[in-house]
Amino acid sequence: MEYLARCPSCGREYDDPLRFRCDCGSPLDISVQLREFKREDVMDTTSMWRYVNFFPYIEKRDIVTLGEGWTPLLRFEGNVYVKMDFLNPTGSFKDRGASTIISAILNRVRGLIAEDSSGNAGASIAAYAARAGIKARIYVPSSISGRKIDQIRAYGAELIRVEGSREKVSEEAMRPEKGKVYVGHAWHPIFRDGMRTLAYEIVEQLGWTPPDRIYIPVSSGTGLLGILEGFKHLSGPFPELIACQTEVVSPLYHRFRGEPYTPPERLETVADALIVTKPPLLGLMVEKLRMVGGSVEVVGEEEIADAFHQLAARGIFVEPTSAVPLACYKKQVEVGEVDRGDRVVLLLTGSGLKMKPSIIKRLLS
Ligand SMILES: [Zn+2]
Repeated sequence: MEYLARCPSCGREYDDPLRFRCDCGSPLDISVQLREFKREDVMDTTSMWRYVNFFPYIEKRDIVTLGEGWTPLLRFEGNVYVKMDFLNPTGSFKDRGASTIISAILNRVRGLIAEDSSGNAGASIAAYAARAGIKARIYVPSSISGRKIDQIRAYGAELIRVEGSREKVSEEAMRPEKGKVYVGHAWHPIFRDGMRTLAYEIVEQLGWTPPDRIYIPVSSGTGLLGILEGFKHLSGPFPELIACQTEVVSPLYHRFRGEPYTPPERLETVADALIVTKPPLLGLMVEKLRMVGGSVEVVGEEEIADAFHQLAARGIFVEPTSAVPLACYKKQVEVGEVDRGDRVVLLLTGSGLKMKPSIIKRLLS
C-alpha cells in the first residue's frame, strides 16, 4: 500500500486513506506517484479493474467488484460518441468511485461507512457495502423520495433523514463517531480517483486516440476531476473538457467566469442529479479546468428535454441529467463553437429507469 494525499491549499500531506479533509478545511488531492501508463500493463478483465496496475494503493485481493466499468462507447451520430456509463451495476457512473473507495479502505472498517447523497452515489455506496459485507449509513435530505431511495433501502443500508440544508446533511454524515468511516463522494479523494478509469476507457475504446472534446455533467465534480487526472496520467494530447451544468444550478459556470452566483430559492429542474449549489470541490474544479484549457457550458430546461428525447429516440434511456451533455454540445454546434468534424464523447452518467415518476411524467406530457 503506497498512499499519499496532499492539500492543494496548504500543502500538508496525509498517508491515511481515511482522511478526506485537511486540518485547514480544504479537500485533499491524491498525490500518489503513478507508474507510467503503458498499454501492456492493462489487464485482460472486462471491468474498470483492467487498470488496477495504476492504482498502487489498492491490493488486488481486496477489490470489491460488481463488474463496474468497461461500459460500451457507442457512435451516436457522425463523430459523436456516447459513453454508456449508466449501464454500471447500480445504474450510474458512481459505481467506479464506490468500488475504488471501498476496496481501498475495506480492511480498516470496524463499524460502518457513511455517505451523504440524495441519489446515485448513495445507491452505489449501499450496493458496494452490501457486496463487501459491511454496514452502510446513507444520510439524505428529509424531503427526498423516489426510486433511488428505494434502491438504497433494498441494498440494506441504513437511511438517515436530515432536516435542513444540503450542507447540514453533509455535516451530519461527516460528524465523527466511533467506528464510523466517511466515504462521501463530494469530499473523498479516493472516490473521485476511481473516475480516472473513464479517461483510460474512452481512449482505449477509441483505438488509443483521445477525442477532441468530452462533455461531462458536473455537480460535485467527481467525474470531471477524475477524468482530468486520468488524461494527465495518459500524458498524450489533452481533449477539451466541457463541464456541463443547468441554468438552474450553475455554481461552476459562474465561478469560472468570475461572476457571483446565487442559486434560486427552489431548485426546479428535470436534471435532478445536478443540484449541488455549493460543491466543496468548486475551487479545485476552477483551478484545474483552467490549467488544462477546459470550459463550462449551461443549458435550459427545454434544451435538456429535447436532448433527452433525442437520446431516447435512438434507444438510449437516461436520466435527464445525462442529457445535459448532448444539450450543451448541440448548443455549441449551433453557435459555431464546435467544429462539426471534431470527435466528441458525451458522458451518460445515470439510468432513466431510476427517474422520479414526477419527472418522467413531465417529460412525456
Ligand atoms: Zn490544508
